[in-house]
Amino acid sequence: MITELLYDIIYLMAEILKSHYFSDYLKPSQVIYDLKATNKIEAFEELLDVLLKNKLIQNKQLILTRLIDRERLESTVLAEHIAVPHARVDTGNRIAVAIGRSSKGIAYDSQDKKVHLVILIVWNPVIPGLFNHLFAGLARYLREPEFRTKVINARDRHEFYQVLSEIVISLPKDDRLVSRASLLKKLQDIEVKKRRATGTQLKELEKKASLIREELDHATLTRFDRLMERYGYAVAEVESGVCQSCNINVATVMSSAIEGSNDIYICENCGKFLVASSKPVRDKIRETASKKISKKK
Ligand SMILES: [Zn+2]
Repeated sequence: MITELLYDIIYLMAEILKSHYFSDYLKPSQVIYDLKATNKIEAFEELLDVLLKNKLIQNKQLILTRLIDRERLESTVLAEHIAVPHARVDTGNRIAVAIGRSSKGIAYDSQDKKVHLVILIVWNPVIPGLFNHLFAGLARYLREPEFRTKVINARDRHEFYQVLSEIVISLPKDDRLVSRASLLKKLQDIEVKKRRATGTQLKELEKKASLIREELDHATLTRFDRLMERYGYAVAEVESGVCQSCNINVATVMSSAIEGSNDIYICENCGKFLVASSKPVRDKIRETASKKISKKK
């Protein structure tokens, strides 16, 4: 129908208007071609100094602490050799990005898996959506092995900046939520633990939960809380293509996409968030068997 077509065109135009180049957030003075750091804390400090010099942040120590807290919660290695450490701190209505490349590699989570590109992001509490769209845009590019090679193998500072400037970032549509599945699973585990926790343990869990909540968009959180309230859990694992919450086969395309990805999918049948199974199959069978036994009691 004509109206539908018109709607599509308007939508498409809106999408184009929403696109930004990564260079909108990144000046040449915000990149380091070869980091001196040999470990991740040193790398954070080096990049935070860049942000300080560019007057994009004020409290280096506070941000450093937040970055480390966030890493403890879950590693921010996004793709092979690439990490995106981030912290949500008041930056005066801006998003602050600094990027460092390391030819010798930085010991990040372990000695053997070195990181060659560190993208440090600090953003403001009043603009949570911006972080999500920046993160999604970066992930789309950096998951491509060719693009990764191009960035890491840049011959000089100028080429390094040029390649990074090629990244186009567009606001994801509401139904295309990205990169948050493992965080949702973590949040669920924390919420479950919170039910039995008291005192300092509860405080610690609440701190972790709020760190995760800051990174998820409003629509996802609303859905998550509703599911938690109604069913006691919101995230279901997919095993051999079957949703473990409702036992219905998830579309093949979807289940192969879930495996190896960290994107958020929703079961069309029961509405739970879907994540790839994390357990070896044998453990899972044992668990299902014991669940059946306890149900009979
Ligand atoms: Zn389901």
